[in-house]
Amino acid sequence: MASSPRHSTHHPTLLLRRHYPNFCALAPLRPTRQLPSLPQQQLQQKQHVGHDPSPSEPTTAAASPATAAAAGALRVGIVGFGNFGQFIAGGIQRQGHAVLATSRSDYSGYCARHGIRFFATADELCEAGPDVLLVCSSILSTEAVVRAIPFRKLRAGTLVADVLSVKQFPRNLLLEILPPGFGIVCTHPMFGPESGKHGWSGLPFVYDKVRVAKEGDQAAKCEQFLSIFEREGCRMVEMLCEEHDRYAAGSQFITHTIGRILSQLNLESTPINTKGYETLLQLTKNTISDSFDLYYGLFMYNVNATEQIDNLDRAFEKVKQMLYGRLHNVLRKQIVERVPIP
Ligand code: NAP
Repeated sequence: MASSPRHSTHHPTLLLRRHYPNFCALAPLRPTRQLPSLPQQQLQQKQHVGHDPSPSEPTTAAASPATAAAAGALRVGIVGFGNFGQFIAGGIQRQGHAVLATSRSDYSGYCARHGIRFFATADELCEAGPDVLLVCSSILSTEAVVRAIPFRKLRAGTLVADVLSVKQFPRNLLLEILPPGFGIVCTHPMFGPESGKHGWSGLPFVYDKVRVAKEGDQAAKCEQFLSIFEREGCRMVEMLCEEHDRYAAGSQFITHTIGRILSQLNLESTPINTKGYETLLQLTKNTISDSFDLYYGLFMYNVNATEQIDNLDRAFEKVKQMLYGRLHNVLRKQIVERVPIP
């Protein structure tokens, strides 16, 4: 039985609406979830090796040749295998699950080197019957990409997830398009190939179980899917999609916007960099390593983004006024009141 849409005014995270974005404040909301058992083969590997695989260890076909065959492992079908799709596939494989992929571009060479089955079309991927279908396409292309997925070829009740950096839009889209009975879990890993390159430990992972059965296979698959991120050390934050978008506009979108503005200045390293300046250079580098499509998606597909751009504009004007206002006062005193220059 599907859980009811979670829009209750009693949801605990609604209490945080009055506060400025602060993900640390959300840590206590992390549900105490029973972690599902590891896929059989990975469990054996752990017992033999005696340590957790490091998140920074490269995952290649040679390093984990048969993760796809591990008993109890999930088969995660990634739709959209660009920058982020490839990055997240690494974590899924590290946790002993199999990755299947399809994308607009041909990533068959990359997939062959990384022990991933690549399918030329979404049709073929769906026919392979993944347990979880994970949408990793750009925000801008997602509607067309999702509408082109032949869901009828998937097993009934398959769990569909997404990683888009905005959340209300994919939630509404999936609710509209998916056949009844299919599970929906909307997620946003709040990190990427740059910020998560040394591991995912402590990095926030936001999720909303939009429509997931309370028990049975779908519920178990959902727990198993979420446990991938929990086992990688992510800080799991369960949050409604609306709330995510409000927080993200005030934090992530502002960060990207400042990074984009700074990139227009063509800042360069100097022999006398301060720590603060180094931080700005790093921010600029991180921001422009993401596609402009991604940034435009953060703006266009988050209802709160325009307000944040306006706030930023007003804040810049105010700071200018503070500077020029003080300068004008000094000049006026000299010109009108004839106060001598000190
Ligand atoms: P992106 O530019 O947002 O998306 C690139 C992906 O979208 C590629 O798989 C690309 O396919 C596909 N795509 C773009 N236009 C398409 C079109 N017209 N038709 C079909 N597919 C199209 O860059 P990204 O960094 O890989 O992000 C992917 C998703 O992850 C986004 O939704 C983003 O919000 C989310 N995300 C990203 C990060 C991050 O740090 N980068 C973090 C969290 C979440 P091809 O490569 O086959 O062309």
